Amino acid sequence: MYAFRYQRPASVEAAIELARADEDAKYLAGGMTLIPAMKHRLAAPSQLIDLARLAQLKQCERIITGDQKAWRIGAGLRHVEVATHADMAKDLPALAALAGGIGDPQVRARGSLGGSVANNDPAADYPSALLALNAVVMTDQRRIAANAFFTGMFTTALEAQEMILAVEFPVPLRAAYAKFPHPATGYAMAGVFVAELTAGHWQVAVTGVAAGAFRWHQAETAIATGQAVPALDRDDLMEDMHAPGAYRAHLASVMLAKARSQLSDGVGM
Ligand SMILES: Cc1cc2nc3c(=O)[nH]c(=O)nc-3n(C[C@H](O)[C@H](O)[C@H](O)COP(=O)(O)OP(=O)(O)OC[C@H]3O[C@@H](n4cnc5c(N)ncnc54)[C@H](O)[C@@H]3O)c2cc1C
Repeated sequence: MYAFRYQRPASVEAAIELARADEDAKYLAGGMTLIPAMKHRLAAPSQLIDLARLAQLKQCERIITGDQKAWRIGAGLRHVEVATHADMAKDLPALAALAGGIGDPQVRARGSLGGSVANNDPAADYPSALLALNAVVMTDQRRIAANAFFTGMFTTALEAQEMILAVEFPVPLRAAYAKFPHPATGYAMAGVFVAELTAGHWQVAVTGVAAGAFRWHQAETAIATGQAVPALDRDDLMEDMHAPGAYRAHLASVMLAKARSQLSDGVGM
């Protein structure tokens, strides 16, 4: 690797100030993606601004607004912390299970919610949960609805040096997530998050099969009206050495059926 500066600011404000003073600086969460990218010279930041110890990014709280419950989960929470948060898991067992199925123990011990969401890998698990649950990404500047946040492969609506502080997940009536993991990494070959937000209002989001996670509207309508879910029909299916697009589309159907069977079993994951 080439030389770069390493900064460990004591507050979110100090981190933002450092980042705004240097357009080539990058925030560092767990380094699970950023450090390998630097090793391969796909990223060359002038400095790394380490967010890992910032207490403000570690908060996880239940928010009640009228009759709507939500969990505001700090961007700095590691996947293992989301997976094992007992109170949050009572309301959002599907999200806890999703976090517990990311990668391997080492990745879950270092990778963070904020890093995953900011990175927007097309095979990452969290984006499907954000889309299916109508989550809101809270940054230092604004609140961004999930459906406006993920803009393309590895791209998001974040402006340069904008920091994710937390993600707010509304609590659904019930939800489940099923993925077919890549055997080497755990990334989704296909992952489907299904949620009943209010009685009869279903949302389904898919990850791993196209350039980014997306809502599967035909499946939502079919579930709501009691019809058979049609095959996934898109012209931007991901084709790579791991699987052709048609196989991934088929996997999405299988994962949706698996998630729905977990719903009816009351497993909720
Ligand atoms: C072997 C392996 C297996 C994996 N398997 C899976 C899997 O099964 N499912 C899955 O979903 N993911 C998987 N991942 C991804 C992993 O879970 C991490 O979430 C992802 O790599 C991001 O890592 P990180 O949180 O350490 O962020 P970093 O690598 O530190 O940062 C990633 C990017 O996000 C930016 N960033 C970080 N925090 C913020 C913030 N608060 N605000 C704004 N920008 C920010 C950084 O500047 C950087 O550009 C895997 C990774 C590895 C290495």
